[in-house]
Amino acid sequence: GKVLVTGANGYIAVWVVKSFLDKGYSVRGTVRSESKTKHLTETFKAYGDRLEVVVVEDITKEDAFDEAVKGVDAIAHTASPFHLNADDPNELITPAVKGTLSVLQSALKYGTTVKRIVVTSSTAAVISPDPNPRVFSEDDWNDPAIKEVEEKGRDASAASKYRASKTLAERAAWDFVQKNKSKIGWDLVVLNPPYVFGPTLHELDDPEKLNTSMLDWWSSVVKGRKDNETLASVGSEYVDVRDIALAHVLALQKEAAGGHRIIISSGPWKWQDWVNAARSIDANLPAGNTSYDPSKATHTTRYDTSRASKLLGIGYFGIAETTRDVIAQFKEKGWVA
Ligand code: NDP
Repeated sequence: GKVLVTGANGYIAVWVVKSFLDKGYSVRGTVRSESKTKHLTETFKAYGDRLEVVVVEDITKEDAFDEAVKGVDAIAHTASPFHLNADDPNELITPAVKGTLSVLQSALKYGTTVKRIVVTSSTAAVISPDPNPRVFSEDDWNDPAIKEVEEKGRDASAASKYRASKTLAERAAWDFVQKNKSKIGWDLVVLNPPYVFGPTLHELDDPEKLNTSMLDWWSSVVKGRKDNETLASVGSEYVDVRDIALAHVLALQKEAAGGHRIIISSGPWKWQDWVNAARSIDANLPAGNTSYDPSKATHTTRYDTSRASKLLGIGYFGIAETTRDVIAQFKEKGWVA
């Protein structure tokens, strides 16, 4: 089969492309400009003509993917801005929502061979602030982020702007499917990962230009830029980039996944857990908070991952393995002395 992967040059997407190629699929990847094709074709040259890279300059145009969807069996839509420097929330919301809708619109019009579309959403579209410890599931929606952005606009928090973009984009996708269900020959699966960490495959000459999640990891673990209080108390859940990539393949393969949003998460952490894992590999890395006791850490935001187990049967890397592979790669690149 042939899969269209949007935003194929992104941190997660390059691993998604690799997973599909490794499982025997052909891939058509989209990038925003010609200059972004070379790294991809070089990275995957061993796969010969199974990878094709095409340019889609502006994903917010309604007909953006009209050509790209032709002849593919499935689509993985990953392209969406993930950064925390937007002043105007629409910098994130417009490409997130319109990009998603133009993929679906083009698939409706020209995707006569398309059987399934997987959209990379996020737990950003699931979680919301809660004073009490809470286990979130696929039944939860981050409507408070949308409300905050509606009320505060540019003054909404950076996290809320991003989270609103993901929530609105995912809602738009489900609404589109609902509205057009009599006309479409495909179904939708949405993946909701929390923080994604792990080695990089995308084009990168400087670790300070890492994607948002890995830049946070690099800053915290390698550069020691977080204070002790933050290291011991701030955390989330994570999934290794190789696991979320494989989840995209499984989401296309497993019939029963159709029509579901699926949280994909390995488990919880505080920043100091990553610092400790890295320090056990290289004692020259920053020590961070030496009084942190992981057995006393409270993880107040947790995810129910039973749907992923049931529908995808996925296993997960853990903190020690992910850290081992990231540090090994950073050393190879000369980013860790
Ligand atoms: P990257 O920044 O590495 O990749 C983002 C991709 O989206 C790139 O291909 C980028 O293209 C494209 N993109 C960004 N903005 C636009 C735009 N305005 N118009 C067209 N294309 C655009 O991020 P990730 O790999 O981390 O993110 C990929 C997906 O995964 C996103 O949907 C993100 O929300 C989601 N996600 C990421 C998590 C993480 O921790 N990394 C966690 C949960 C979800 P270009 O290179 O040309 O800018």
